[in-house]
Amino acid sequence: MKPQVSPEPLIFEISRPGRCAVALPELDVPPADLPQEFLRDDLPLPEVSEVDLIRHYTHLSQMNYAVDTVFYPLGSCTMKYNPKINEEMARLPGFVHLHPYQDEGTVQGALALMFFLQEFLKEIGGFAAVSLQPAAGAHGELTGVLIMRAWQCHRGQSHRDVILVPDSAHGTNPASTTMSGLRVVEVPSDDRGNVDLKALEAACREHGDRLVGMMLTNPNTLGLFDEHLEEIVALIHEHGGLMYGDGANMNALLGIARPGDLGFDVLHYNLHKTFSTPHGGGGPGSGPVGVSAELADFLPGPIVVIDPERSAENSPFFTFYYPPKSIGRVKAFYGHFGIMVRAYTYIRMMGPEGLRRVAEDAVLNANYLKSRIQHVYHVPYNRTCMHEFVCEGRFPDAPDVRALDISKRLIDYGFHPPTNYFPLIVREALMIEPTETESKETLDAFADALLRIAEEARTNPQLLHEAPHNAPVRRVDEVRAAKELILRYQP
Ligand SMILES: *Cc1c(COP(=O)(O)O)cnc(C)c1O
Repeated sequence: MKPQVSPEPLIFEISRPGRCAVALPELDVPPADLPQEFLRDDLPLPEVSEVDLIRHYTHLSQMNYAVDTVFYPLGSCTMKYNPKINEEMARLPGFVHLHPYQDEGTVQGALALMFFLQEFLKEIGGFAAVSLQPAAGAHGELTGVLIMRAWQCHRGQSHRDVILVPDSAHGTNPASTTMSGLRVVEVPSDDRGNVDLKALEAACREHGDRLVGMMLTNPNTLGLFDEHLEEIVALIHEHGGLMYGDGANMNALLGIARPGDLGFDVLHYNLHKTFSTPHGGGGPGSGPVGVSAELADFLPGPIVVIDPERSAENSPFFTFYYPPKSIGRVKAFYGHFGIMVRAYTYIRMMGPEGLRRVAEDAVLNANYLKSRIQHVYHVPYNRTCMHEFVCEGRFPDAPDVRALDISKRLIDYGFHPPTNYFPLIVREALMIEPTETESKETLDAFADALLRIAEEARTNPQLLHEAPHNAPVRRVDEVRAAKELILRYQP
């Protein structure tokens, strides 16, 4: 296997006095000086030719890992291939040139798309109503928790302020709960990776009258379907709480099980994960929220509905609707419309059968990959997994090797590393999500690389400690890189 990333260092300083990449037409206005107060001496303008410029940026773009170039098994993130037709549809001039202040009557096509996307998501999740406003999954969580809290206040239970969150939860779950002003109470997992029922009963006894509800990811971040889901839902409802579903893992359920039918009252969808719109790098996402009929009046508006008065036969008129007890807007205008176009396109291209096949293949791929490596990489909660699984990145006979070393070495083999050190309940966690869009050959190549690395861990651990050897950037201080992000080239 040969490394896929060029080891050549990128030469940044290619400016040469007098070179120029553009030929401007002759001036037909009097020349004016550049405003000196805005010019910075420490940032000289580069002088480069057109070919220098193109090579520089093309080279830079090739240094990034991307789903379009490599396998990207980043657990919990659902880095599936994003079909290019999504992009084509999102770039249709009729969508691109819309203005958010346009009159409803002039944007009926866009409203129809939003309306039908709401309908599809209702059907897929088993919910009575959907708002497309939230900007991402975590924002959907915040929205959902605010809706739950508003519902509790509406029925005279404003003293309720506790949300139960399992210890296997995604970091955004306690974070969004805390941001909503509520209290997080953590519930431990049992030895099969489920929510510990005894502990949940105890938490309900202790906090029952203060319970707003529970936030649960199912399948959870171990990639496991909770075996006691019915009991959990019943227990929370018995204590006057609501069930929030973190729907980031819908890729395991599409067309097979509907969270609304399983007892969840609120759920967010990650359009940018399950419904194949590009994500990562801080670009726009979309985290619509679906709710049961009882909570529909609390959703953030605007929601797109059909106005019967202005509709003619076979020609519905779409309009905006603001639910009467709404928690209010959570986003400017209508949410991230471009992402909605992509998700709508994906759903239409797949159709109901195709969506079900997504979940079936995602689960099959994860179980296949697990079966190929589990004799070498210990899987602590080892039962049939859903769309992802978590193994330990450590070996009893190579004590110095850590999950991070394994991940960095994978880069040398041309693969994006899996998610590291999450969920926290697995030591040296490697969380692997292959998604449905990968072939058996890719899965085998990845498994082979992992098995080779396990051998290297024993025979030449230094190789792993010093990896990656072929990437343009070696090891960085990841905490500092996140907290003190330096985005500008500094000569
Ligand atoms: C990705 C993810 C989230 C957060 O979603 P964002 O869209 O990144 O805000 C929440 N929970 C789980 C399990 C996730 O994987």
